[in-house]
Amino acid sequence: MFIVGPCSAETETQLLATARAVAALMPDSFEQVIFRAGVWKPRTSPDSFQGAGMVALKWLNRVQTECGLPVAVEVATPEHVSAALAAGVDYLWIGARTGANPIAVQAVAEAVIQSPVQPRGLMIKNPVNADAMLWKGNIERLERTSVPVIAVHRGCNHRPCWQMAYELRSARPDIPLLIDPCHMSGDKNLVEGLCRMAQTLGYDGTMIEVHCAPQTALSDARQQLTPDEWGALVRKYPFRPVCDDHTLAWLRAMMDETDDNLWQVIEERMKISRRIGEWKQLHDVPVLQRERFNEIVERRQEWALSHAISPDTVDAI
Ligand code: PEP
Ligand code: MN
Repeated sequence: MFIVGPCSAETETQLLATARAVAALMPDSFEQVIFRAGVWKPRTSPDSFQGAGMVALKWLNRVQTECGLPVAVEVATPEHVSAALAAGVDYLWIGARTGANPIAVQAVAEAVIQSPVQPRGLMIKNPVNADAMLWKGNIERLERTSVPVIAVHRGCNHRPCWQMAYELRSARPDIPLLIDPCHMSGDKNLVEGLCRMAQTLGYDGTMIEVHCAPQTALSDARQQLTPDEWGALVRKYPFRPVCDDHTLAWLRAMMDETDDNLWQVIEERMKISRRIGEWKQLHDVPVLQRERFNEIVERRQEWALSHAISPDTVDAI
C-alpha cells in the first residue's frame, strides 16, 4: 500500500502539479496509490502555516477526477470528518498529536459512524508519545466503525521507537502496518533506508511525503521527496530483505535502537561530567572523592542484583 503526497495542501497549483507527477510516475505494477495532503495542520506554533482548510477539499476533488487517485486527509475533529466525507475524501487519517488524546479519537470515530458517507479506510498514526497501548486503544475505538483500520508508524521525536511498533504488531498482527519514514526521521536522506528496514520487518506499505518543490514547502520541507525521487525509490521495490526472519529482524532493530540510545545517554553523562570537572577546578576540589565514588558503585550494584545483571557488568561500565 503506497500513500504519497505533500505534507500540506498549499495551493491548487502545487497540489495538482504534485498529483499529476505522481500519477505519471506510478509504476505499472502498482494497482493503486493513495494521494495524501494535510488540509488542517496541527502545528506546534500558531505562527506556522495551519493548512489551507476547506477550500483544499475542492482541489482534492480535481486530483480524484483528473489524476484518478483516491485521496486521504488528516482529521482531528468531528467537523473535519463531516466536511471531508461530504467532499468525497476516500481515506481519513488521525495524526500523532490527535492520537495522544483518546477523547478526540473517540469523537472522530463517532463522527464517522454518524456520517451518511463512509470512507474506504481509517488510518491511525502512533501517538506523539511512544505508547503502544494507547495506539492499540485508538485502533479499537476506530474499529467500532465498520471501516477498515490501518496503523501508521511515524515514530517519536525523530526516532523510530521500534519497540512500540513491535508491541503493536505482536498484539494486533491482523492490522496492516505502514511506515511513515518522513515524519520518523525528519530527513529525506533517511527515507530509503527506513523503507528497506520496513520491508525486512514485514510492513505492509509506506506513507511518504512528496512535494513538487520541497524546498519551498510551507511545512516539513526537509523531509519531502520530489516526485522524481519518489518514482526512483518505488522502482527499487521490492528490496532484498537484510534478514529472512521477521522476528530476528525486529529484535535486531530494537537492539540497535537501544544501543543508539545508550550512546546518547553516555554522551549526555560525559557533558555533565565535564561540567562537574570544571566546577571542581574552579573550587579547588580534588577530582576523585572516594565516598561519592563508592556510593555510586554500591547503588548500581544493588540495582543490578534486582535486575538480573551481574555486578561485574556494573563494575566494568
Ligand atoms: C503529517 O502527516 O503531515 C503529520 C502532521 O504527521 P504527524 O501527525 O505524524 O506529525
Ligand atoms: Mn508532514
